Amino acid sequence: MRKLLLTLILFLLPWQVNAAPLTDAEILEHRMILYQKTEASTQVPWYYIAAIDQFERSIRHVRNDLPKPDGITGYYITQEKWAGYTNPNPKDKNPLSIGIFGGIGVDGNGDGKADKDNDEDLLFAVASYISQYGVNDHSFRIALWNYYQRDKSVNAIMTNVKLFRKYNRIDLIEKAFPIPKSHHYSYNSTWGAGRGWGGRRSHEGTDIFASYGTPVYAVAYGVVELKGWNKFGGWRIGIRDINNTYHYYAHLNGFAKDINVGDIVEPGTVVGSVGSSGYGPPGTSGKFPPHLHFGMYKDSGKNEWSFDPFPHLKNWERNSKK
Ligand SMILES: [Zn+2]
Repeated sequence: MRKLLLTLILFLLPWQVNAAPLTDAEILEHRMILYQKTEASTQVPWYYIAAIDQFERSIRHVRNDLPKPDGITGYYITQEKWAGYTNPNPKDKNPLSIGIFGGIGVDGNGDGKADKDNDEDLLFAVASYISQYGVNDHSFRIALWNYYQRDKSVNAIMTNVKLFRKYNRIDLIEKAFPIPKSHHYSYNSTWGAGRGWGGRRSHEGTDIFASYGTPVYAVAYGVVELKGWNKFGGWRIGIRDINNTYHYYAHLNGFAKDINVGDIVEPGTVVGSVGSSGYGPPGTSGKFPPHLHFGMYKDSGKNEWSFDPFPHLKNWERNSKK
């Protein structure tokens, strides 16, 4: 009996060591392998699959009506959608009957079961859905529109496609402080403070004071979503990253040359320079001291809201090299 117990313990031990939680880097590595494996078996480019998976993960982090992402994959699907709405057995794992009832569930790993809690089956289902439309950006957009029926969601996923495709990797997590450390600047936590112009509005961002012409860096890998004039923000630019976070840079003196909507930026890419534009019609400037107004917005796939950038700025400032 003791011998059996010892054997059992010895047998279980290595497994328990392996079951130690994966590091962030290991998760990204496993995830990328799964994406590429799905591409190999479906011919759907990995970055389309990854773009949807990443978007779904980002909204689950901020939604109360969806379970938090807990595995390698982020894609979420209800039991009913997986098994088919008319399926009398919503927990059905039989690919044949799921197919008959019009469910999205498929068997991706060849074990005969269509299991929505299996990462390979899940990604195979995503890829199968994409391939019904075709594997180019135009067809992919239509597939996304039919699935999400929301422009902002489609755009957020296309942002992921652009970034994943260009860099051919998913670990685009590096960040930069928006003002070069070699320049003089100062900032405080000013989020939520009242402000004077344009009625009673609460301050949705952090003001970083610096001299006219100080370069402004993109803080993250992202795609330029908006560029131009707004009576409050003056010359401003908006950039979305792979976590579906929108970064807003306002009161600029001007934009970097050749930066346009749809362009890809990296942490440290110069997007413009510090100014005091805004609080009036196009060209208005000098109504307040020059500073960068930096805002951050989160999108849940349903709505978008601002959150306090200050702690993030502190963190990036600490870790930035340039
Ligand atoms: Zn501000």
